[in-house]
Amino acid sequence: MAAQATAQPSGVRQSVSLQAFTTWKVGGPAEWFAEPGSQGELIQLAAWAVSAGLPFRCIGAGSNLLIADGGLAGLTLCNRRLQGSHSDPHEGWVEAEAGEPIPTLARKVARAGLHGLEWAVGIPGTVGGAVVMNAGAQGGCTADWLHSVRVLDPSRPDQPFTLEARELDFAYRHSRLQAEPLLVLSARFRLAAGHDPAEITARTSANLQSRTSTQPYQQPSCGSVFRNPEPRKAGQLIEALGLKGLSVGGAQVSTLHANFIVNTGNARARDIDTLIRLVQERIRDEHGIELHTEVKRLGFEGVDTQRPGP
Ligand SMILES: Cc1cc2nc3c(=O)[nH]c(=O)nc-3n(C[C@H](O)[C@H](O)[C@H](O)COP(=O)(O)OP(=O)(O)OC[C@H]3O[C@@H](n4cnc5c(N)ncnc54)[C@H](O)[C@@H]3O)c2cc1C
Repeated sequence: MAAQATAQPSGVRQSVSLQAFTTWKVGGPAEWFAEPGSQGELIQLAAWAVSAGLPFRCIGAGSNLLIADGGLAGLTLCNRRLQGSHSDPHEGWVEAEAGEPIPTLARKVARAGLHGLEWAVGIPGTVGGAVVMNAGAQGGCTADWLHSVRVLDPSRPDQPFTLEARELDFAYRHSRLQAEPLLVLSARFRLAAGHDPAEITARTSANLQSRTSTQPYQQPSCGSVFRNPEPRKAGQLIEALGLKGLSVGGAQVSTLHANFIVNTGNARARDIDTLIRLVQERIRDEHGIELHTEVKRLGFEGVDTQRPGP
């Protein structure tokens, strides 16, 4: 006998443009969309999507996403209202909701004299997105300080469970969560306690300052588009080929930092996608190097959901 569909939860909206939910400010509509305000609501929404046979995925601040102009089928959950954190400044424990902005968390823990997240202040994503991406900068990354995550398997929405950091297969901008249909509900960090709050706060602010002066923070972007083909730097390879300023429609290789593609005002996802491929082609032709994207594409290949529909 087919399972009974769960009643549609309140707060689910239909055909919502995702432009405002990505830092590139592009992307078509989500067929169904919701911003849960609590873990309970998120769990309810996941249960509804599963019972209705809808494909779905969870996004954070959309700061590492290229969403197709055609939009996304099924349910898109945005976690940015799922904020909050609490810490034990003596022991160094910090527990944060998945939608907590990671720069907010970096500033909070700095004020508490906790060392560890100074590098995170310039990354405009959420805690959940930082865990999934193993976000990092300026010599630090999520994997260095994460203790564990509370996750949800959408096929068993009533049974959240904990994964230790060592179970997440962290590597450079990689975690196993990129390939598995698990939703991050919250994350627990173990930081270094007992530091001078003024010193940690000053270091955190200096990190932000050094980034905003060398990267195009005033224009819509997704940060670094390409992973560095170690030991080479993607930005240096792109700049050396004279590709800064190269444009397709409203998408442009930043004139400030060659590994950024900015939306100069009216870009569509297709422009950005075409520009990415153009840059990859030029680097391949010139150096025989395959540049892989750090940015995640959604809605392009149809394999981008956390739970495929029937
Ligand atoms: C100006 C700028 C600078 C940046 N600098 C850096 C940098 O220095 N270092 C760096 O690493 N990144 C950087 N980024 C990229 C981006 O901010 C990070 O990758 C960030 O961790 C993404 O977090 P997010 O919440 O925006 O995730 P999203 O972009 O919304 O999602 C990214 C992926 O995570 C998944 N996801 C998000 N939340 C959850 C969840 N709760 N459960 C399950 N899956 C989830 C999504 O489905 C998607 O696959 C930068 C971006 C910008 C715009």
